[in-house]
Amino acid sequence: MTRTMTAARLHKIGAPMTLDTIPVPTPRPNDVLVRVKACGIVPNMANVINNWPTWFPHQPLPKFPAIFGLDPAGVVEEVGEAVIDVKKGTRVYVSPLRSCGSCGACKSGKRSYCNYFTLNGYFSTARDGQKIFDLYPFGGFSEYMTAPEYALVILPDNVTFEQAGRFGYLGTSYGALKNAGAGPGQVALIDGITGTLGVAATVLGLAMGLSRILGTGRDERLLSRVKALAPNRIEVMKLGDGLSSEWAKRLTGGDGVDFVISALGARAPIATMQDSMKSVRRGGKIVNVGGAAENLTIDVKWLMDEQIQLIGSNWFTATQGQELAEMARCGTIDLSYLEDKRFPLTRVNEAISGLKDRDGGFSNYIVTP
Ligand SMILES: [Zn+2]
Repeated sequence: MTRTMTAARLHKIGAPMTLDTIPVPTPRPNDVLVRVKACGIVPNMANVINNWPTWFPHQPLPKFPAIFGLDPAGVVEEVGEAVIDVKKGTRVYVSPLRSCGSCGACKSGKRSYCNYFTLNGYFSTARDGQKIFDLYPFGGFSEYMTAPEYALVILPDNVTFEQAGRFGYLGTSYGALKNAGAGPGQVALIDGITGTLGVAATVLGLAMGLSRILGTGRDERLLSRVKALAPNRIEVMKLGDGLSSEWAKRLTGGDGVDFVISALGARAPIATMQDSMKSVRRGGKIVNVGGAAENLTIDVKWLMDEQIQLIGSNWFTATQGQELAEMARCGTIDLSYLEDKRFPLTRVNEAISGLKDRDGGFSNYIVTP
């Protein structure tokens, strides 16, 4: 008899997901079957299932009915016949980054440069992304999913499945900090410091040895909460209270910061980034990891004169995910700042649409299939 499972499926844009009974998949030779225990939800999930095809018609969603769920964590229940290292019973985070595996970028370990780059259970940035969705149609809003062994991050015992459900955004911030060359003694400016990526970048930046972190945001209460993470190393400014570039230069004796992480939310005004990027010092870096999606006016002579680098950063490698797990294992980062808000699969629609983000990047919205 075929074993069945419950999965939340989206049949149509704008409609609620329905709980459907479908067969439990069998893993292909290089895949594993994961029993999903928790799947993180981020504010952008509501945009993806309600507005995406209108906003970003060139970034395809999976064919409907589709199982979404970007950040799953769970236990390996079966392994494919060609999987020799991963064992049944292993606790894992499943990175949703899928790629072809055979192009030059994939073979050099830079899967996010692959032309097939697709975020499983979310959307693809590739024209042929549906080919990947056909291979991996199961997102995290499902009791079981298949996953390629290359996507697994092994979880230490002291990281809960709920905390692992935030690894996607912690990892994305970590990838951005790596692209910025973050390290001891540096000063950073984080745009949108109170959001999911912003708080994660702050916690990680402190762990990576940054001397000072300057951050901007809109909500004063949340800005104070971020500052409280390390009051003598963090300075915050409310957006709208003057120019962040002038503020940052003032706090750095006129030099500017070593790098800017722009972690603004989707639909944030580009003027915010336009301003904050001017706070970098000569030779500094601007890393965009946020959701701002407008054209930016740039003085390219300034880039040349001051040798500024503007870098786009998208997701992270499974190796970086493993580094994150290791930092959590040995206490270099403390994930207890995350406040779990759990929802059973039966309340998935409420969890996605009701996500008011009142506590910004401190809230951890989780579906537990
Ligand atoms: Zn590839």
